[in-house]
Amino acid sequence: MPIHIRCRACTREVASAECDRGFRCSVCAARAAASADLAAYQRLWAKRARYGRRQVALEAIDAQLGRLAKRMAARLHERIPDGEAAAELLNGLLAEARQQADSVGGRILVPRHGQELVGGGARA
Ligand SMILES: [Zn+2]
Repeated sequence: MPIHIRCRACTREVASAECDRGFRCSVCAARAAASADLAAYQRLWAKRARYGRRQVALEAIDAQLGRLAKRMAARLHERIPDGEAAAELLNGLLAEARQQADSVGGRILVPRHGQELVGGGARA
């Protein structure tokens, strides 16, 4: 009978063989491996929103977003044997990052050049 332990990050009970040396499950290990790229993706997405209608800048940003997503996919697939689950996790993480970047919170963190923080956040 396989030994089960609790993942240190999400507390889910998983087979010990699935865990990495930090006692994290494969999903949490994969998320951690992709977290730096995900943060970069989110910053870039916020930048993309600010560039709005300037087509030339958008093409460069989209190419970079694509490269980041591909690298994250590779990191997730390395650690999550179920390909469909890895793809689903990636899509969820990317959607969440884009949503965060699009939210008011994202805009407060990155005020536009020449823009001042008024009250709770930056004004458009
Ligand atoms: Zn976990």
